[in-house]
Amino acid sequence: MSGTLDGKGGTPGSEPPVVTPVVTQRHVTSQEFRAAFRAAELGMAVVDRDGLVRTANDALGALLGTDPARLQDSPAAEFTGLTEDSRTWSAYRDVLLGRRDRLHCTRRLRPAAGQGVWAEVTVTPLPETRDALLSVADISDRRDLRARLRHLRMHDPVTRLPNRSLFFERLAAALATTTVAGGSGRIGLCYLDLDGFKAVNDTLGHGAGDRLLGAVARRLTECAAPGGHLVARLGGDEFALLVEESRGTEQLVDLAASVQSALSRPFEVSGQRLAVSASIGVVERPAAGTHATELMQAADTTLYWAKADGKARWTLFDPERNAHRVTRQTLSSTLRPAVEREEFDLQYQPLVGLGDGVVRGVEALVRWHHPQFGTLAPNRFIGLAEETGAIVPLGRWVLATACRQARRWQLDHPCEPLVVSVNVAVRQVWDSDLVADVAGILAETGLPPSLLQLELTESAVMGSGGRPLQQLQALSDMGVAIAIDDFGTGYSNLAYLSRLPVSTLKLDGSFVHGFRTQEHPNPADETIVEALVQLAHRLGLTVTAECVESAEQAERLGRIGCDTGQGWFYSRPVPAERISALLSTGVRS
Ligand code: C2E
Ligand code: MG
Ligand code: MG
Repeated sequence: MSGTLDGKGGTPGSEPPVVTPVVTQRHVTSQEFRAAFRAAELGMAVVDRDGLVRTANDALGALLGTDPARLQDSPAAEFTGLTEDSRTWSAYRDVLLGRRDRLHCTRRLRPAAGQGVWAEVTVTPLPETRDALLSVADISDRRDLRARLRHLRMHDPVTRLPNRSLFFERLAAALATTTVAGGSGRIGLCYLDLDGFKAVNDTLGHGAGDRLLGAVARRLTECAAPGGHLVARLGGDEFALLVEESRGTEQLVDLAASVQSALSRPFEVSGQRLAVSASIGVVERPAAGTHATELMQAADTTLYWAKADGKARWTLFDPERNAHRVTRQTLSSTLRPAVEREEFDLQYQPLVGLGDGVVRGVEALVRWHHPQFGTLAPNRFIGLAEETGAIVPLGRWVLATACRQARRWQLDHPCEPLVVSVNVAVRQVWDSDLVADVAGILAETGLPPSLLQLELTESAVMGSGGRPLQQLQALSDMGVAIAIDDFGTGYSNLAYLSRLPVSTLKLDGSFVHGFRTQEHPNPADETIVEALVQLAHRLGLTVTAECVESAEQAERLGRIGCDTGQGWFYSRPVPAERISALLSTGVRS
């Protein structure tokens, strides 16, 4: 030992500067050093070139739970865990061989008895000897404190659940691992929001609100525990359950359903029994190529759908519905230029006499051939067109195109008069001079007014006084027929309609669907339709049934007294040429 701790060197490699007062004092004896070594609170050992302990102090013995004398001649690398990875091991060898100044690392020591301790291990060569000094500092307390601070930072104090930060950390880690692992993994998320939580806060106070959140958190934790899923409070009354290794949609749906049923049991909070429900957005997809923000956006959208669909339910992410949401924006902004570019086209669906099978007319149904999204049905854009006002130029184009086509059929088949029925949106009645437009188009195309029918919905004409009523009256006076579309979905006020210049009721498809099949006839529906038809006839209206899909429906509608039928049983909406062909070959169905 002597000579190894003679204190001559100070810091390895640095010659003591002559002017420093400390160094000009007398040299510390090796005895004094030995005493300091023994008394130090820092665990230390002197090791030889081979890494065997020459001597260890009491502090190191205490740290390792052993008598320091028993450490003598044992390989220090073993009790300090320096053999655990090859980089540390080779750095350690270099220090022992004097090829390197210092090794510093953090290790978890595992003494034979007692708890493991986290330690900072430092190894430096001892100058002028072939030994090295190894010191081991217990940093468990520091680490514990750091861990406790991190826990506080990453958890929500109200529910004790992981908070938003931890949730995103775990989500990012899960996505990163699965991506690295080759991309076959899947990830799932239930994103939930309590329905009506604000009311609890407002009426019972924030204390009760917090207790309710705590109770909800416990039930969520119970649901997630069997699968070991992460439950986090993302803020307010929003929670998330993360399924890091999803087995598929079904697993997520089961989880969402179990959450729903767990929350359906009433809660006891502040002496009150509270009924709580949640809306849940469920997203499940391959982890590869999925980004955390994208996943959360999908979850957010899906949660919004669950709320919009009536709350207290889970809803599964639907890419088509999402695309719908995304394209709404695009469609809305490109509608007007599309009218100018004539990206629209009309299809025609026959209106057939139920008694004789004669095609009496056709309904013009608009389609949009969108350069990016392909052919779009009207339910994708008519509403948008109404919102933006683009329905006015679009409606004018539809009217002109349908009338031009009808005039051509009239000229080609003068003996088979065919009425063209054109849908008119509310806004066209209010925001444009519909009467002038119709008059102008009839004059321009030469179509007799009697071959034009305009379809308006009940809501468009109900309560109409003033201008709309005058317009309807003027159109009717001109000889144009007015039909009420989708009758039965609105007010269904026949008495009111009798005072308007309406000539036809188009019974909404839902009535016809209500007829059911031969095996399960629904006499109530038939009775209602029959009464409606009789009443309409009494008021001088003709009745068209929409959505006739089977021969049986056609037969029964005919028996009840409906005048005409429209639907897939006769024909889907088709291009004008197909109607022309039908007229050429005879109109009997
Ligand atoms: P609508 O006026 O009630 O038109 C009938 C709708 O029912 C059409 O859908 C038609 O394809 C569909 N249909 C026909 N037969 C059957 C059947 O047997 N079964 C079923 N399930 N459906 C059938 P489409 O073409 O998608 O039109 C939807 C709605 O869009 C129309 O309902 C109408 O309100 C509106 N629309 C269409 N074209 C125009 C237009 O040029 N202007 C305005 N303002 N609205 C239009
Ligand atoms: Mg219609
Ligand atoms: Mg309709």
